[in-house]
Amino acid sequence: MEKAGLQPDEAILLSKPSNIFYVSGYTGEGIALLAGDLCAIVTDFRYTEQVTRQAPGFEVFEIKTGQSHFALAAEVLAAHGVKAVRFEADEVTVARFDKMKQDMPGFTLTALKGEPEQVRRIKEPEEIACIRKACDISCKALANLLPRLKPGVSETDIRLDLEFEMLRLGGESLAFNTIVASGPNGSLPHAIPGSRKVELGDMITLDFGAKFGGYCADMTRTVAVGEPGAEMKKIYGIVLKAQQTAQDALHAGVPANSIDKIARDIIAGEGYGKYFGHGLGHSVGIDIHEDPRLSPTCQDILTVGTTMTVEPGIYVPGLGGVRIENTCVIGETASETLVTAPKELLIL
Ligand code: ZN
Ligand code: ZN
Repeated sequence: MEKAGLQPDEAILLSKPSNIFYVSGYTGEGIALLAGDLCAIVTDFRYTEQVTRQAPGFEVFEIKTGQSHFALAAEVLAAHGVKAVRFEADEVTVARFDKMKQDMPGFTLTALKGEPEQVRRIKEPEEIACIRKACDISCKALANLLPRLKPGVSETDIRLDLEFEMLRLGGESLAFNTIVASGPNGSLPHAIPGSRKVELGDMITLDFGAKFGGYCADMTRTVAVGEPGAEMKKIYGIVLKAQQTAQDALHAGVPANSIDKIARDIIAGEGYGKYFGHGLGHSVGIDIHEDPRLSPTCQDILTVGTTMTVEPGIYVPGLGGVRIENTCVIGETASETLVTAPKELLIL
């Protein structure tokens, strides 16, 4: 990864599972070491074979009973002439940093400035293929669920049904905890599915995603069970317009906050500005939430190959809510959505 920029006596020590997976393909516990002539995973007995299977290009070093990962890392790095170690400041706790200092005496320890995450922003074609597959699985799971969305079914049942479908269709795990918000619960952007049963005329917000090949899908659809009320229908139309217009404008070379503004202006123009209190979207990859963000404050210039969700919403306490979300890949002059499920209001 960053090895080209390293001094001969410098190493990177990775603790963050998503960064370790990115450089090596390994998903177990332990730390990764990268230096000029070294790619290594330091782990314990339980994972040694897993490293050789998942990360064949990496040497594996197994700690002895009572030995810390840092102590073994110090031995390995010293043998490679390393004197300076860079670590992830946003991952290593104060307690772990104290341990690192204690078990790696003589090394100069300095914090990385998010360089691994910077590299991860631009997805390789193989990474996009995994996210596309994760989105396909998620869309199929929704299609299978829809005939069973009826009055009397609880949010918990819907959640279980949707998650079972994602796993049955080849999702290796869930990208995050599924959100199911029915009727008035829809005003909670991150509602936890509960015992409430769907009633005729409810809108139901479903925010979910499968994981495939280590990569996350993220999508939201809001559907109606029976004819919804006039205001909810109107809100749906506004959110749909905001989502489509912002997604159509998403392309490389523009600042992230300019895309957020497009959706925010549409919603505010209809008088619902104060009911859209979160950012328009976020990047997605190995982690469900990655940088950059489509938010009023993010001025990063968008780049080709960055994946981005576009997810405006309107949440009215006491009434309900609507959110529509696609995961997209940014191209030179346009973006492509990896979520192919229809967005028009579906009345079941
Ligand atoms: Zn989502
Ligand atoms: Zn999202």
